[in-house]
Amino acid sequence: MAILTFETLSFAKKERQIEVTLLKLFKTSIPQEEIETIALFELRDSHTLSFNHQDQEKIETKFFFLLTKYFDHLTNKLTGNKATYIHKNSGIPLIGNVAFGIVHRGSSIIEIKPVTSCNLDCIYCSISEGLFSTKNDFVVEKDYLIGELKKVLDFVDEEIEIHIGVQGEPFLYADMENLISDLQAMKKVHTISIDTNGTLLTKEKIDSLAENKKLQLNLSLDALDEETAKKMAGAKSYNIKHVKEIIAYATKKLNVIVAPVLTEGYNEQEMEKIINWIKTLHPQPKLGIQNFLHYKTGRTPSREIPWEKFYALLETWEKKYDLKLHWRKEDFKVREVRDLPKPFKVGDVVKAVIKCVDRFPGSVIAVTQDRTISVPHCEFKKDKKIKIQIMRDKHNIFAGKPT
Ligand code: SF4
Repeated sequence: MAILTFETLSFAKKERQIEVTLLKLFKTSIPQEEIETIALFELRDSHTLSFNHQDQEKIETKFFFLLTKYFDHLTNKLTGNKATYIHKNSGIPLIGNVAFGIVHRGSSIIEIKPVTSCNLDCIYCSISEGLFSTKNDFVVEKDYLIGELKKVLDFVDEEIEIHIGVQGEPFLYADMENLISDLQAMKKVHTISIDTNGTLLTKEKIDSLAENKKLQLNLSLDALDEETAKKMAGAKSYNIKHVKEIIAYATKKLNVIVAPVLTEGYNEQEMEKIINWIKTLHPQPKLGIQNFLHYKTGRTPSREIPWEKFYALLETWEKKYDLKLHWRKEDFKVREVRDLPKPFKVGDVVKAVIKCVDRFPGSVIAVTQDRTISVPHCEFKKDKKIKIQIMRDKHNIFAGKPT
């Protein structure tokens, strides 16, 4: 008997299909008869398959081959959108794309992005993420991400902050707690910061996260009024009472920054209420009010408030409430560190292999020299070789066009 057990996968029988769920959020289906061509099998429990065959290694190889084939049909359970699983055997490097993997911009804050997808639809979202998104998603194998990050940290060779700033809600990534505790154990990481909307956190989860002393939670809070909060989150199910409870509880256990987005015409009247509420908390979290900014790929509910006016507002509230609101780069001790080399630059023509679809439909990701390159307006044909002229190389995030 060959037994295959998976921590990150679960299985369920659906008629003549075996539905495979990856990290609780992504799914694909394998026809039962295809699995039976390996050997007769049964579902022992939701994470375990047992095959009527003695050769464990052979069964593993054949089943992994089948999994890889059907991972090409992975979808996001929340949205139904196509998703790509990026693992150490996927042939997809983790540097080169702004939506997943590792983004090092030459500063002492390195970003990591294990997943894309969101359970809210905030009206100001700079990447138009959420339940109505039609973009393709990515999910990265935790051990692959940690392994590649170690290489970057060895190269940088200085203490740095890891910022988990995903295109979406990071706690949708079922391996997030394990990822954070792996980061906590890394000597060169002095801080782990994570941006979250707080909706998926519970007191129990915070108790367990609080074991990681380097962790800092950046929590969204755009309004205290129930209706305004729902409107800002773009979701009727948004529960402001829960998010407030989570913030109040988290501040007792962890470093917390509360980060409202001031959006003209929507929540100006909420800012002073938020300040007053923050001042009732003990210990008091930092409050970092952000100005709504318009991005090409984001939602635009209103005009941007001119910076002069925005800073004047912060100053008025700072004086009125005796609370620091205007945070500068220096407050976060960001410094320049050794930047990663770029294997190619704008204008170069490189040969690359198409590996998966990119975030936006109609665009693909091609791979060469341990980097990914986004190629818009390109038909997806897996493993097709193409020539690309590099159009963008800033911060080792690459885009190009076929030649
Ligand atoms: S929680 Fe963040 S990623 Fe999700 S919709 Fe709101 S702003 Fe966008």
